[in-house]
Amino acid sequence: MSRVRLLSDTLASQVAAGEVIERPASVVKELVENSIDAEARSIEVMIRRGGISLIRVTDDGVGMDRDDALLCLERHATSKIRTAADLATVATLGFRGEALPSIASVARFRLTTREKEAVVGTEVLISGGKIETVRDGGEAPGTQIEVRSLFYNLPARRKFLRSENTETRNIEHQLYLQAIGHPDIAFSLVRDERVVFQLPVTKTLRDRIRDLMGSELVARLLEVESGKGRLRVSGFIGQAGVSRASRAQQFVFVNGRAIESPVIGAALKEGYHTALMKGQFPVTFLFVELDPAEVDVNVHPAKREVRFRDPAGVREAVVAAIRRTLESDRSSWREQFRAPAPPDIPFVNPEQPLAPADDSQATFPVTAGQPTVTDDRFPPNEERRPLPEHQFRILGILNKLYVLMENAEGLVLVDQHAAHERILFEELRRRMEEQGVPSQRLLLPQVIELAPRDAEWIERNLATLQKMGLGVEEFGRHTFKLESLPPFLSGAEPGRLLQDVIDSLKSASNSSSPLRLGEDMIAKTVCRHAVKANDLLRAPEVEKLIRDLLECELPYCCPHGRPTMIQISLGELEKKFGRKV
Ligand code: ADP
Ligand code: MG
Repeated sequence: MSRVRLLSDTLASQVAAGEVIERPASVVKELVENSIDAEARSIEVMIRRGGISLIRVTDDGVGMDRDDALLCLERHATSKIRTAADLATVATLGFRGEALPSIASVARFRLTTREKEAVVGTEVLISGGKIETVRDGGEAPGTQIEVRSLFYNLPARRKFLRSENTETRNIEHQLYLQAIGHPDIAFSLVRDERVVFQLPVTKTLRDRIRDLMGSELVARLLEVESGKGRLRVSGFIGQAGVSRASRAQQFVFVNGRAIESPVIGAALKEGYHTALMKGQFPVTFLFVELDPAEVDVNVHPAKREVRFRDPAGVREAVVAAIRRTLESDRSSWREQFRAPAPPDIPFVNPEQPLAPADDSQATFPVTAGQPTVTDDRFPPNEERRPLPEHQFRILGILNKLYVLMENAEGLVLVDQHAAHERILFEELRRRMEEQGVPSQRLLLPQVIELAPRDAEWIERNLATLQKMGLGVEEFGRHTFKLESLPPFLSGAEPGRLLQDVIDSLKSASNSSSPLRLGEDMIAKTVCRHAVKANDLLRAPEVEKLIRDLLECELPYCCPHGRPTMIQISLGELEKKFGRKV
């Protein structure tokens, strides 16, 4: 008995809709993408009750004639590709011809559309995939699609919808993506009759980001620019230390398409290595552009993911662009400290204590060449010239931990512990890259037997471990001899140490380079070595610390991504003191 049967068109559409249209935000995504493909300059989105009760997308794009308005509701009807070859070079956001019929099969659907020159437009009403009415209509040129009672005929799916607020948030996120990807299109969102945002056409991405997220964030963004090679990376990323607890502000576009890409996600993480705290995600508005033939966009039902022909190349380009951008950011602060102090503003005086510390531990001074008098610490205003630009003045140390400085903008605080960690980290890394970390012989070499898996890992990474100053040698099956250690680890118990290294690096190292392995190890050990929070530093040491810090590649955060310095502007102080509102 034959059992195979063809599904009815409506049912086939509903099955397809199951993949394409998961929730109200997917409807918004598909409709807005269609508007963008139709060359709209302005797109208005209106939703009610999280989009479950109503979604209406109105655009001023090219519109459709009557035939197209009917045809576009058939499955696999598209104006965007014709042949399989087109699929390899697709430049539009849509290409499957699946969205409209899918949406129309799971909602009450109304389409009105008019071409610019046409005298009259077309209106089509559909319920659950069945055309109910076709008539003349459509006032303004462009297209308007209304989707009501989403999933009214698929109770199972409707049950999976979240609260109205959650669905609204998803819709907003979807629109953020589209708005960031297309600053040259005006967008507006109205939720339950209230305007959520109204974005004018902007000339630059920076302006669009400002309109959406505010100027405070924009001030902390760095522009990414990379060469004109086969693969271009551009956009904006947060400065080192600017982070979020989720990926919600990690916007990534490949050839203009907003996507979620594990490859690029990993590259961002790698690029921000040591510039972000654990569990934090960077803020990015990143655009990757490459030959369309190098990307397969046809791999995900909602076109949310892509496949790269050369993922390693993409990863490398993104990591390099991020590193370069983050490192370019250090120059401005470094300048400030390079400039020599003018003679009448002595930088530091190694003799005089500033904090009311006990005398035996006198540590921090201010004015040079004069005996200790309180007046020198707070000289009257006339004697204190305003600080020239590009100049720091060390004021003292707070709570044995924070170095206080002033510059032209206001107050600068440096966490001396974090600063020292960063300096040490970069120094050890440099040494490791160059000639290897020096190693100190152990009085008694240790023979250590390891579990087979761990032994295999050590064998694979032997060269790297040696470069890091760990003198390990094979000494039989699954057995190793540890003969020397880097000096800063000399206090450790060798057997435990080796196991620690294995445990903490094994998982981290699967995908990454030997260099990264070394970095991880250094980051995990420098902490112990760095100045303890309450170590009292003498003035010249503080000065050296600051200078060394500003020479670092990423001076703004410690190897674990915590900030090393904070600027509090005069403006902020004025606000706090109520001088300014
Ligand atoms: P796809 O976008 O993959 O082509 P859709 O089902 O989303 O498939 O749309 C089918 C077709 O309907 C599109 O190819 C396009 O020609 C037309 N269309 C859809 N939305 C609009 C719109 N807002 N303006 C003009 N034409 C549209
Ligand atoms: Mg489409």
